[in-house]
Amino acid sequence: MSTPLQPGASDLCRFAHVDLNSYFASVEQELHPELRNRPIAVVPTMAETTCCIAASYEAKALGIKTGTQVAEARRICPEMVFIEGNHEVYAEYNHRIVEAVERAIPVVAVTSIDEMVCELIGREQQPARARQIAQQIKQSIRTHAGATLRCSIGLAPNRYLAKVASDMQKPDGLVLLLPSMLPHVLEKLALRDLPGVGARTEKRLNEKGVHTMQQLLALDREGVHTLWGSVWGDRIYHWLRGVEIEDTKAETQKSLGHSHVLPPDLRHVDGAWAVAHKLLHKAAMRLRAEKFFCGSLALSIGFALTQRQAEQLAATSGPARQHFSGIQNENWAMEARFNDCQDTLTLLQAMTGIWQQRPQGPLYRKPFFIGVTLSRLVPEDQHQLSLFADSGLTNLSNAMDKLNMKYGASTLHFGGMMPAREAAPVRISFTQIPAKYGIEFL
Ligand SMILES: [Mg+2]
Repeated sequence: MSTPLQPGASDLCRFAHVDLNSYFASVEQELHPELRNRPIAVVPTMAETTCCIAASYEAKALGIKTGTQVAEARRICPEMVFIEGNHEVYAEYNHRIVEAVERAIPVVAVTSIDEMVCELIGREQQPARARQIAQQIKQSIRTHAGATLRCSIGLAPNRYLAKVASDMQKPDGLVLLLPSMLPHVLEKLALRDLPGVGARTEKRLNEKGVHTMQQLLALDREGVHTLWGSVWGDRIYHWLRGVEIEDTKAETQKSLGHSHVLPPDLRHVDGAWAVAHKLLHKAAMRLRAEKFFCGSLALSIGFALTQRQAEQLAATSGPARQHFSGIQNENWAMEARFNDCQDTLTLLQAMTGIWQQRPQGPLYRKPFFIGVTLSRLVPEDQHQLSLFADSGLTNLSNAMDKLNMKYGASTLHFGGMMPAREAAPVRISFTQIPAKYGIEFL
């Protein structure tokens, strides 16, 4: 006889993911009471050819959503109201919402303008208490940030599943995923419901014979690793089973970075490099001011697509990403890992190495967004310790060997990648990791 599934002592949820519903449209309805309960859409600019970047619940009920063309939306609903988006206002409301959530529970990460993650501790992790806290969060947002603002909350044993759960019920959702339900409760989802599985990843998975969550969940860790062809497969395997990967958590909490949307006159290779340079200097200064060393630098670049390119891409591999500004884009990111450092020169070397790897070709001609992130931060006073821990000076080379073993054959010597005149006296070794998924999601 099988034991019925019951929430046991270890059936706990550690994270709450809060995702505001129809965020931009709801803020507009909050600001303009005359727009409440009406189909409205937020657009990047007032033009018939542009796309909606957010739609109110009322518009969604008619089938109008993010990405619907203005002309099409008007055809579906002639009374539709279009509003030009105001990013500053949405950012300001984001701060209010974070404050409102923090009246109920501390926010550990703000992952986008309308999403944040909270960590539950001690008794808060018990399902009944966690539900109560989620209700308090919802109420606090309505009371302290705006009466029209609603959110979906996912509760789960790790951040990844908390995000998945927050997407399972909209609007005003509250979904709890507990270890005893995993992974079978995920079987009814589509592959695309998983963070990190966009149109292109889905296509790749399909090509390898995986079309459903059931098929994905039937694979063992090795199988998912092979399917993804990278360590992300292993992570996803564990995440779907409720494991929180501490390492990733620490990394994402401890990072600092800057990003910038390039003004139109700088949307070329030289302009982008100049801005990346400036952002790196800013980040490195902050790193030193806050007394940290870092072991990783990630560079992400958004490339603007022409309408034609976006259409071609949509036809072959799914819709292009759309930035808040309405720019359809192709994103690329890479991370370099190296021994802890805090000097600008070493960091610049790492960034140059990444820059040289950036993709070439017609889709990558017009950079419009640059982000630089320093992570794997180590406080200055622990910096030496981390290298010499338990081993003393004589074992320094062992520590270095361990690092090399960890990063394996892909470890590169920086000096060799640079033109001679740029080669720095200190050769740092680093390894490059495609960071696309990691940066986009976490
Ligand atoms: Mg949202």
